[in-house]
Amino acid sequence: MSLNRKSMKNKLATALFSSSVALAASFSGSVAAADNTFVTIGTGGQTGVYYVVGQSICRLVNRGTKDHNIKCTAPSTGGSVTNINAIRKGEQDMGVAQSDWQFHATKGTKHATFKTQGAFTDLRAVFSVHGEPFTVVARADSNVSHYNDMVGKRVNLNNPGSGTRGTIEVLMGEKGWTKDSFKLAAELKAAEQAQALCDNKIDVMIYTVGHPSGAIKEASASCNAKIIPVTGPIIDKLIAENPFYSEATIPGGMYAGTDEDIKTFGVRATFVSSATVPADTIYHVVKAVFDNFDRFKRLHPAFANLTPQDMMVKGLSAPLHEGAVRYYKEKGWM
Ligand code: GLU
Repeated sequence: MSLNRKSMKNKLATALFSSSVALAASFSGSVAAADNTFVTIGTGGQTGVYYVVGQSICRLVNRGTKDHNIKCTAPSTGGSVTNINAIRKGEQDMGVAQSDWQFHATKGTKHATFKTQGAFTDLRAVFSVHGEPFTVVARADSNVSHYNDMVGKRVNLNNPGSGTRGTIEVLMGEKGWTKDSFKLAAELKAAEQAQALCDNKIDVMIYTVGHPSGAIKEASASCNAKIIPVTGPIIDKLIAENPFYSEATIPGGMYAGTDEDIKTFGVRATFVSSATVPADTIYHVVKAVFDNFDRFKRLHPAFANLTPQDMMVKGLSAPLHEGAVRYYKEKGWM
């Protein structure tokens, strides 16, 4: 009885095995024909600059698919922290993230989602991109002319997972503010906030973003909103104590209604990946960007002043990805 059962089992196993071999054989035929590696880049909202970064990189990568077989897509996402956590889970290969959140992810600090997971030791820096001033925009009728005036107002803190939300929470912690400090603490996505400001649903929108930003143009052109200063002793302290923050200025005249330079603090947009993503993949992505650097820089005005020398260093705290190092050494840049 038991022998019989065993031989039945064996027969079944053999049958299953041979049909799966047949299946694998037929599959490998079609895989060999396509043989592409599909990679994804996490970005941000569609009206932000991260989306342009991701789309631009993919456009350059996909021009060379026939040479390297890499196919790239860059979907819209919730922003910096969402991207880093998706890379960690292996759901995305690369992503754009603020320099402050790159720093804290490598250490497992400051953000609740990083603290619970601990240091992300596989996080890798690839290069940095444009500067991102922490930008506060207020309705003309809101009586908000400095960031301190936000207390008691209807403020959009942005969606959890965005870098902007993380950074405003750091600032709130320093100021001793909580959500209750505001008349309304909204959690709209970056792409929704200009409309909400113009519809008089919020008084203040916040966006850590490269300039010029489509969302801020929308708010300033359609409803007279103004960019307001983010300055004072607490900001000076944040800049002095943290390598990833610096002083930032939004140039006067860039947006309707804000003619003078506005001072704030800022971070840098960075491009990150994981040590688990193959060096060959990252090498080809980096090569696509820097071999076509003039073309890349033309894809958004915020990229105009970028240089490879700055991009290899500024705002990066995670170790450089092996594939990026290979390209930089090949160029004699390091
Ligand atoms: N810095 C923002 C964030 O991390 C995104 C800015 C953008 O999309 O350009 O959420």
